[in-house]
Amino acid sequence: IQSKLPGVGTTIFSVMSKLATAHHAINLSQGFPDYPCDPTLVELVNKAMKDGFNQYAPMTGNHLLNETIAQKVESLYQVKYDPETEITVTAGGTQAIFTALTAIINSGDEVIIFEPAYDCYAPTVRLLGGLVKTYELSPPSYGIDWDMVKKLFTSRTRMIILNSPQNPTGSILSDEDMKSLIKLISGTDVLILSDEVYEHLIYDGEKHNSVMLYPELKERSFIVASFGKLLHATGWKMGYCLAPELLMKEFRKVHQFNVFSVNSAMQQAIAQYLQDSNHYHQIGTFFEQKRNYFRTLLSESRFELLPCKGSYFQCVSYAKISDEKDTDFSIRLIKEFGVASIPVSAFYQKATDHKIIRFCFAKENSTLALAAEKLKNV
Ligand code: GLN
Repeated sequence: IQSKLPGVGTTIFSVMSKLATAHHAINLSQGFPDYPCDPTLVELVNKAMKDGFNQYAPMTGNHLLNETIAQKVESLYQVKYDPETEITVTAGGTQAIFTALTAIINSGDEVIIFEPAYDCYAPTVRLLGGLVKTYELSPPSYGIDWDMVKKLFTSRTRMIILNSPQNPTGSILSDEDMKSLIKLISGTDVLILSDEVYEHLIYDGEKHNSVMLYPELKERSFIVASFGKLLHATGWKMGYCLAPELLMKEFRKVHQFNVFSVNSAMQQAIAQYLQDSNHYHQIGTFFEQKRNYFRTLLSESRFELLPCKGSYFQCVSYAKISDEKDTDFSIRLIKEFGVASIPVSAFYQKATDHKIIRFCFAKENSTLALAAEKLKNV
């Protein structure tokens, strides 16, 4: 058959996790916690099942959950989204991204992405017949020169994908970035897909500059959020999308024929769990401690630490250790040293090798300590 995605293989997250298992390595590759989620949450799922939440949830989401999301958003950002018309519960962040792109992108439309980028953006755009326009971020700061972004704009530019805190670099967008973006898009009809799945994982007293805080951006943005990250339950594949009514209408046209609705019992459980707002106000501190711990441990190794302002990913350069390609190096790291990582070249479409790999620190401190012991031998 003629592939719709020639050149696309299996996502790097599956590849590296599988290798990690095969070689009994400590898995700091794919981003997921190795500790259990709150048992209270699991009990609430059991209770929801016993209470009869076993049939289709409403297409747009469990009513209590949509309302709870609206409360969460208002409590964190003092911004209102209508639970009925502007919030849809999704089967994770990636489905929300796929659905938003599918709802908007036509053949020939151009979409601007910042690389390194999470690996689903570009293939999804291409699947829809869209063209990816890439802005390459430079290590170590991975900052954006907005005048250069402007050069990528054409009359076909339909969308720009943001991701802050960013996977894999851990960089964040500043207030100044957002203001430059407002200038850039004013007078255009360019839409924004803002992947904010790491919104709570932001450190050093910085605040998350969600696009919703800027009315000029909010009115043209799909915002994607993740319960997997918030609840330490990535396997539940639960998230949501926020957008103004007009955009959300289009999103739902696709969503209803894509998944229709999302796991009913889990929605009910999450809604009840999040009645306690501590569950979303305290998570940043939890991960900041892990980041600090992991960075301290790694400072005794020969790896050079890149900044990590947000997300649960720590990028490191191994340029002083080896000049192997990052894919080769990360495979050797699994086989010889027993630690799995993600080669950052996987986040680029064209061959790009800065000798940087990504570790996930959403792990027990004992796991991080054990991994660091091994990494000190590299
Ligand atoms: N977002 C996670 C990561 O970057 C993985 C998501 C996935 O495996 N699909 O590691």
